[in-house]
Amino acid sequence: MNNFNYSQAGNIQEAIHLAGINENAAFIAGGTNLTDLMKYMVLQPDALIDINRIDSYHTIEATEDGGVRLGALVTNADTAYHPLIEERFPLLSKAILAGASAQIRNMATNGGNLLQRTRCYYYYDVATPCNKREPGTGCSAASGYNRMMAVLGTSEHCIAVFPSDMCVALAALDAVVYISGASWERSMAFTAFHRLPGDTPHIDNNLQPNEIITFIEIPANNFHQHYSYLKLRDRNSYAFALVSVATALELDGDSIKDARIALGGVAHKPWRSIEAEAFLQGKTPTRENFAAAADIIMEGAIGYEHNSFKIELAKRAIIRNGLMALEPASSQLPGAQPSL
Ligand code: SF4
Repeated sequence: MNNFNYSQAGNIQEAIHLAGINENAAFIAGGTNLTDLMKYMVLQPDALIDINRIDSYHTIEATEDGGVRLGALVTNADTAYHPLIEERFPLLSKAILAGASAQIRNMATNGGNLLQRTRCYYYYDVATPCNKREPGTGCSAASGYNRMMAVLGTSEHCIAVFPSDMCVALAALDAVVYISGASWERSMAFTAFHRLPGDTPHIDNNLQPNEIITFIEIPANNFHQHYSYLKLRDRNSYAFALVSVATALELDGDSIKDARIALGGVAHKPWRSIEAEAFLQGKTPTRENFAAAADIIMEGAIGYEHNSFKIELAKRAIIRNGLMALEPASSQLPGAQPSL
């Protein structure tokens, strides 16, 4: 790890001012990913600006329309177990608790979850070419060991996946990201926050330099009765998803009034298909209809030498998770393993 200056900010303006003094500065909150990257010498900031003392962003509050506003500095654990989240947005609780370990969830913050970097092996290995770490050097994963990599939205420059579970649920729930700069505030749809790699794989998201995520807002919805988060991975805990699916359904009698499906582990960002969700509207929630939706979602998927299995795995996961969402109480029991 390189030497760096450390300072603490008491408010957003101070944090951004401190960052402006040093162009190679980084904000730190939970630090669960940043400190890993510093130890591996992938990132070598000259200055760390600790934003944990900014009190305004440590709260979870109900909004007037029945939604919820999550402070960016609230930990993932406090979010998952908050009564408002458990009651109104249980899909988010399930997704958060499927991620990382209890220790990491106790440290990691909501804002940091959005900003974590890929876990591509080559990104972490500074002895190998990687366009994300060092633009223009090449992508070692494309011709290397690519079992964990993406099958949707890839480019010749990068085939990495975004590793978050929490963000898959936030994408499905139409969340909005609130951002502050030195003298401005703005917001953007969660689905517009993360980027596909294109020819700029070193840029993960649309946050500008010296901007800070302040809140994440989830609007009211009627998905609290029929939802499921299914995470398929090589071991049952503390592992990143090969494929994950967040499904939320609003039913009207025997038919689907509204549907949300987002995938993790398959792309450089949480993957949503508006077309598949529109297809499901008005349909009955059957295996056949979820299979047709899965085909729509995975249309255009491209496998690489070691990860082509993800395409079929994702389709089966979408079908299974749609059926699990019909009876969330039974399908969400600890250790419940779906047959694929
Ligand atoms: Fe780097 Fe992306 Fe290629 Fe991984 S997939 S080696 S992160 S460019």
